[in-house]
Amino acid sequence: MSESYDVIVIGAGPAGYVAAIRCAQLNMKVAVVESWIGKNGKPALGGTCLNVGCIPSKALLDSSERYHHITHEADTHGIDARGVRLDIARMLARKDAVVEQLTSGIAGLFKANKIEWLQGRGKLLVGQQVEVTHDENTSVYAASHVILASGSLPIDIPVAPVDGERIVDSSGALDFAKVPDKLVVIGGGVIGLELGSVWRRLGAEVTVLEAMDRFLPMADQQVSRDALKQFKSQGLDIRLSAKVTGSQVTESGVEVSYDDANGAQALDVDKVLVAVGRRPNTSDIADPDTGLNVDERGFIEVDQQCRTNLPGVYAIGDCVRGPMLAHKGSEEGVAVAELIAGQQPLVDHNLIPSVVYTEPEIAWVGKTEQQLKEAGTEFVSGQFPFAATGRALAVDATAGFVKVIADSTTDRVLGVHVIGRNASELIAEAVVVMAFEGTAEDIARTVHAHPTLSEAMHEAALDVDFRAIHKAGRKRR
Ligand code: FAD
Ligand code: NAD
Repeated sequence: MSESYDVIVIGAGPAGYVAAIRCAQLNMKVAVVESWIGKNGKPALGGTCLNVGCIPSKALLDSSERYHHITHEADTHGIDARGVRLDIARMLARKDAVVEQLTSGIAGLFKANKIEWLQGRGKLLVGQQVEVTHDENTSVYAASHVILASGSLPIDIPVAPVDGERIVDSSGALDFAKVPDKLVVIGGGVIGLELGSVWRRLGAEVTVLEAMDRFLPMADQQVSRDALKQFKSQGLDIRLSAKVTGSQVTESGVEVSYDDANGAQALDVDKVLVAVGRRPNTSDIADPDTGLNVDERGFIEVDQQCRTNLPGVYAIGDCVRGPMLAHKGSEEGVAVAELIAGQQPLVDHNLIPSVVYTEPEIAWVGKTEQQLKEAGTEFVSGQFPFAATGRALAVDATAGFVKVIADSTTDRVLGVHVIGRNASELIAEAVVVMAFEGTAEDIARTVHAHPTLSEAMHEAALDVDFRAIHKAGRKRR
């Protein structure tokens, strides 16, 4: 038996690495097992999020948005931007540099916090022991507590098997060496919309094939209707109720066949991105003798405090129930560390914000009107369009609106939905108000700087009580 630790974490994504740092802050002796090999061929921390997820996708969303603004909108600002040229290799290199800076930053934080990085694949053994395999060498470590944070992997579909060349998953779509002329995205979810937007802005013809008959069903219905309209006007060809039936890789591209309401359809494209969801990465996380409970979809079963059925063993992040979001995993990581230290932490799973980083951005927290209607909760909603704010006009960001939903009786905020520029940042105010069980009146009575996009949040909260200043026509009955 090798060394023993207070805590061993398996997986150094945003769930595992944050748990490890918080444990170290609480004076525990911590090791993290991580097997990721980065694009440069070197071991890397940060998991999906830093290496092939949140960060590289946002880097490309930013670069492609700048390109789109310069090529399509500079003119209206009196800027002559003729002769603009795309250097995709440099764009990808910048994205890789951002990733490298952040992942090596985590390695620095590990050193500073005296967290040991055990490189290799970890597996939970009976009695809080962890086996680590690296280059065919195996060591076994003991710990008082083990945190499983093995994350998730893309879901494959047999009708479009990923070959990494013509048919790719999200990691492949972060690295196209040239802009495809035609791209099909299978799955109109968050990845499909974000990466579909990147390549559309850079000039690809993008068709999104979504199996469901509704677009962004988890968002507020008014928001998803508005989003669909805006994405279509940007040239994203979004086809609903489209069931992919097959794909054939040819010398020049891929033939994709699908069925929709009009019958059998076919498309000839250069590349296909499969983005139909992710599944927990748990197939080899524990020796069967441990008796770790895993559900039929592969999620490790945990209680509200992320405790598994095994004493001293916890699981957090994408490998357990709940939304597959980096900030959700990180908060669970902090909570488990504090639980181990004898504190009484709580993650409120009702207050995890969701964001889609398209243009316009979409963000929400809490309940939608549809969910409240289904639950029979009486509510009032106030709404305000960005187009009626001075800042939105000044910065060319008039699309979208803010909706604040409050309880009819108590005025407590039950949900906030934003579609528009910087929705990802604006939603933070709503999360704080809701975390403090605040009311629409609390937002309405809070001074918001002028001119800012946050004034739309202020006005939407005022509108809950029919007193938005820059909006005509809505009167108390
Ligand atoms: P992961 O980040 O998947 O990390 C798990 C780690 O565990 C990996 O490093 C893996 O190598 C390691 N591991 C697994 N098994 C073992 C083992 N047996 N031994 C050793 N190591 C092991 N979320 C957001 O909140 N915002 C976004 O903008 C966003 N954008 C995304 C964009 C894309 C393209 C993708 C694919 C995902 C995005 N996500 C986003 C989702 C986000 O990346 C995940 O929710 C998040 O990474 C989950 O964190 P995690 O720590 O649970 O798992
Ligand atoms: P998703 O669940 O968001 O969307 C998948 C979509 O594919 C759904 O709309 C689904 O109906 C559709 N689909 C499923 N099977 C299909 C099929 N055979 N043909 C056509 N459509 C099909 O999943 P995703 O976009 O792959 O993202 C995976 C996870 O990563 C999500 O849980 C998301 O939370 C996370 N993520 C988050 C962000 C963010 O927070 N901005 C960004 C990217 C990814």
